[in-house]
Amino acid sequence: MGKDSIQLKNPTILDKMLDMSHEQLVFCSDHVLGLKAIISIHNTVLGPAMGGTRMWNYASETAAIEDALRLSRGMTYKNSIAGLNIGGGKAVIIGDAKKIKGEKLMRRFGKFINGLGGQYWTAEDVNMTIKDMEYIRMETPFVAGLSEKNGGSGDPSPVTAYGVYCAMKACAKTVYGSDTLAGKKILVQGLGNVGSYLIELLVRDKARVLVSDIFDDKIKAITERFNVTVVALGDVYSAEVDIYAPCALGATINSQTIPMMNCKIITGGANNQLHDETLHSKMLNDKGILYGPDFLVNSGGIINVYFEQQGNYNKAKVLEKTEDIYKMTSDVINLAFINQITTHQAALNIAMKRIEDFSRVKSPTFK
Ligand code: NAD
Repeated sequence: MGKDSIQLKNPTILDKMLDMSHEQLVFCSDHVLGLKAIISIHNTVLGPAMGGTRMWNYASETAAIEDALRLSRGMTYKNSIAGLNIGGGKAVIIGDAKKIKGEKLMRRFGKFINGLGGQYWTAEDVNMTIKDMEYIRMETPFVAGLSEKNGGSGDPSPVTAYGVYCAMKACAKTVYGSDTLAGKKILVQGLGNVGSYLIELLVRDKARVLVSDIFDDKIKAITERFNVTVVALGDVYSAEVDIYAPCALGATINSQTIPMMNCKIITGGANNQLHDETLHSKMLNDKGILYGPDFLVNSGGIINVYFEQQGNYNKAKVLEKTEDIYKMTSDVINLAFINQITTHQAALNIAMKRIEDFSRVKSPTFK
């Protein structure tokens, strides 16, 4: 069949989609621009799928697909538990953002989103900026996270960080009997958009903040602004702290790191923090570490872009809804305690119930 033939070498992708209840996985490529992207639509029962685009230099295509599948499923849970009428989706672009990202690439990607006719709406995620969203907007209306001057809601990261902060206080209330963070030792891993806004809130509250990042320039930028302690990469998981706040990439909570951990609470902005959701939420439980479920804790950003997507952006209402994360986190902790399940499972039960209730009156079904 020659070199242009296409052979489906890995049928397990479809098996995975069935297993994780995904609706669509869309592969996009442009050989001139070198664009390689994947749009994953997990569930559209509550509305069109929505979730940010991440650009990352993945080690392999398999890793990118896995990330897209997991992240989009996480968005389904996140959008549901936040009470938003949108489904779960996510996109990943494979490549080094510093090298290949630019107007042409983003606009080409925007055309692919447009081709889905509104089934998927995008916004910012790792390595994406407001400017990138504006390039996408030149080709499609199905994008949020635009600049305020262009009628958008701006960078969602400060709102994400605020939601993480609210959840952190709810967890502190459970563990310490008070939700004040003053004097608490809090380690923020990842000093990007979310991490740096979170640090600002924690420093304001007089917490004792420790920080870590893989890039020296990120550490320099934070240490120039705040009085924080830098932790070496190898010491992050064993550091004796009250709260560990993962704000980098996912899967940092795993079978290698949990045995090393010396914290009482985990609440952070990163998506997919648990490498294996069932196993590692249980391991945290057994170790007496209170885990604030990532998709609940970090839902502030999607709340922010949702109001924009709905065409009725109002900052005060966004912050009010984001503050609900405090109560939701307390409710999840109580539910977990009453039912003797993990906080991850308790949050999942709430998210899935809302979708199931909806799918009784609307197909398709959700497993
Ligand atoms: P970002 O790219 O601005 O920041 C990520 C930071 O993590 C970077 O500084 C990077 O150098 C650092 N990092 C990467 N690997 C690391 C490691 N092993 N140890 C320490 N630092 C490491 O991204 P962001 O927008 O701040 O998002 C951070 C996380 O929060 C991501 O998982 C993202 O999906 C999630 N999230 C972000 C938002 C948002 O509003 N931006 C909303 C919800 C969830």
